[in-house]
Amino acid sequence: MSTSQAVITCKAAVCWGLGMAVKLEEIQVDPPKSGEVRVKMLCASICHTDISGIQGSPYVNGFPLVPGHEGVGVVETVGDKVTNLKEGDMVIPTYIGECGHCRNCVSGKTNLCITYPFRVTGLMPDNTSRMSCRGNKLQHTWTCATWSEYTVVNANYLLKVDPGINLAHASFISCGFSTGFGAAWKEAQVESGSSVAVFGLGAVGLGAISGAKMLGATKIIGIDTNEMKREKGKAFGMTDFINPQDSDKSSSELVKELSDGAGVDYSFECTGVAPLLSESLNATKMVSFTSVK
Ligand SMILES: [Zn+2]
Ligand SMILES: [Zn+2]
Repeated sequence: MSTSQAVITCKAAVCWGLGMAVKLEEIQVDPPKSGEVRVKMLCASICHTDISGIQGSPYVNGFPLVPGHEGVGVVETVGDKVTNLKEGDMVIPTYIGECGHCRNCVSGKTNLCITYPFRVTGLMPDNTSRMSCRGNKLQHTWTCATWSEYTVVNANYLLKVDPGINLAHASFISCGFSTGFGAAWKEAQVESGSSVAVFGLGAVGLGAISGAKMLGATKIIGIDTNEMKREKGKAFGMTDFINPQDSDKSSSELVKELSDGAGVDYSFECTGVAPLLSESLNATKMVSFTSVK
């Protein structure tokens, strides 16, 4: 693969204004500046936060915008002073860096790095953009902007991964799967032998199931109205499945029936549907009452 300092013309998804439909556009992507890397995206996925951003979430600064913060790609061009990456490396763009030695990085309590923080300016750390369309500067989504064939990322926000990784699966590690996995592992700290309920088996829910299984949970109940999730959940470690459409009872009642009538030790609400937060709370044992949203 040749190193190129040329501007690349490629296709990207662009949202031109608040609430507007995303359009496929031809855009220009500048070469990386010092400390930056240009990445050829190979796979990207949709997180609900992308939709929230298009609809005006406070986490997005402005338009026109290249959405996307989940994805995996290959390093195409490396800018000056980048020492930890080379052309051809498989990488995942991230929205929080990790310096490894700031107060937060060494705290053991949070990964919100102070040196390489979550950025909502829509621009690179030097406050300029590397993307444009018909002369219009495009905003990056955080430090990612993955819904483009090429994107430029500060090297401190790239995670190098095994080149043999399954690309479609790797994309979810960027946000959804890790969110659920971390909720079980770091937030709830699920104990070995415990019981767990997971509401919603998308990327977040499957991550929660996987985290609970890794930590030794012996009963992991998945709840989803999509019947296809029955097999998908099992593949990640789910032991029981509830499709609420199969019963007149509430989901929390059905969870209690599967957990000695008392409810589960830990419950994870992974849908973002408000009424299900109550169901998630009702599904837990009163003594432990651990429900993670
Ligand atoms: Zn996300
Ligand atoms: Zn740090």
